[in-house]
Amino acid sequence: MTRVTRFSLRESVGAEYFGDGPPHWIVNAGKRWERAAETYHDAVRRRDEVVRKLDWHRSDSGMTICATLARKLEACQPNRRCFSGACPICLRAVQRWFVVSGLRFGSWLKRGRGQKLTIFSLVPDFGEAALGTLAEFDWNEFRAQAACALRDAGVDRFLTGIDVSLNHFDGCRDEAVFQFQLWGLIEEPREPWRKQLKEAINRSREIARPLFSFEPRCARASLAYGLKGEFTRRVSYVRDYAHRDDRGAARDTRGRKLRGAAWVELMLFLDRIAPPGRIVAAGANIGAHGAVTSRRLRDASDAWTRESRGTVRGATASFRSFIPRPERAK
Ligand SMILES: [Zn+2]
Repeated sequence: MTRVTRFSLRESVGAEYFGDGPPHWIVNAGKRWERAAETYHDAVRRRDEVVRKLDWHRSDSGMTICATLARKLEACQPNRRCFSGACPICLRAVQRWFVVSGLRFGSWLKRGRGQKLTIFSLVPDFGEAALGTLAEFDWNEFRAQAACALRDAGVDRFLTGIDVSLNHFDGCRDEAVFQFQLWGLIEEPREPWRKQLKEAINRSREIARPLFSFEPRCARASLAYGLKGEFTRRVSYVRDYAHRDDRGAARDTRGRKLRGAAWVELMLFLDRIAPPGRIVAAGANIGAHGAVTSRRLRDASDAWTRESRGTVRGATASFRSFIPRPERAK
């Protein structure tokens, strides 16, 4: 993660993304546990909870770095945002920015390319890190490899967030691995491309579904999933379906909230990569981003700018490849 990229996203994520205006969506719509997306105050409460948990781990394990991160998150205030990838307040703002950017990209794909809004999930076999090894994981290399696989398959424009879960077989917790997943929108090439992309991200052939896509019921909620701030431990097990005649045993998974040392490891990692590290995008242009032209948002982003004086000019230039500029369909 370069300073340039980090600050350039700061510039775009203005004060209104921290507030409670649109976009709004329902998480897990249609399920018993559906709920409205987090409000600003929900995010503040969750930040306080993360700080408490980090302090608890500091006193339990003696890891001073937990206290360092806790103080950083605690100091996150309006006009002095910490912009840590472990901060629920900052991540929520970036997530809301990502949803708005995704909707713009999606409508550009519809108008310019005649594409339906489709969410893609990519699970690369090179996006796997054993428990306890995240600190050494080469994140820049992973993102570069993922972007390269997309481009080699003919995908020039994409906007994806990166989600992660800790996966293991039932009873094999020591063998758990963090698995990263790209999630978002891509401009589908006119030539066949899926097979090549699948092969490029799954050379080991160990990923059961390296690539899948679907048309979401709610674009906002589906886009938001790519940058969610709560993480699960996914446990695989064999379900025997003994009570059913129509099917035999099959592999299934159940999700558990990520806790303990694995949660600490992930928080420290997310802090290191910062929110921009969770975005893989190319072939777009911020010129179409109405937000930076509004007076209110310019004022809000000045606060970010003051913090990073001297780096912003280059940052803005480098960021001009993010949001698609409308152009004639080829
Ligand atoms: Zn923050």
